[in-house]
Amino acid sequence: MSDFGTRQNLLLLLGRAALLRCPRCGGRGILRGWFNLQHRCPTCRLVFQRGESDYWLGGYTINFVVAETAAVVLIVALILATLPDVPWAVVTYAAMAAVVVLPLLFFPFSRTLFLAVDLYVRPSELGDRATGGRAGVSHHHDRGRR
Ligand SMILES: [Zn+2]
Repeated sequence: MSDFGTRQNLLLLLGRAALLRCPRCGGRGILRGWFNLQHRCPTCRLVFQRGESDYWLGGYTINFVVAETAAVVLIVALILATLPDVPWAVVTYAAMAAVVVLPLLFFPFSRTLFLAVDLYVRPSELGDRATGGRAGVSHHHDRGRR
């Protein structure tokens, strides 16, 4: 836990994210339900929302692109596998289900994966670890203590 400011291995970060663990420390219990992350990691105290209010926009974008791509791939695979007698009704229902279900299934992963990439690009800093309840205490707020 003394790895502030150091860049971690991207594959390690992504691997933890893929298991829905905290990308930085690998700790469990970072989800609050399927659609919400905890405010911070219960293990290493990393605050997950790092900055801007639209922070998760990147995660939503990843979610949408990956899930819909997966849906299209599945549908095309289904069509190719059943040629030339494609069961179009089945394909249609499968397509609708995939387009709706895959983004929901992938949702928490998109957030943790986004967090992992973000941690890689911007390694965690001291300000990310809120100790008392205030996040982001930084240089212009230290009162003579160094
Ligand atoms: Zn953690």
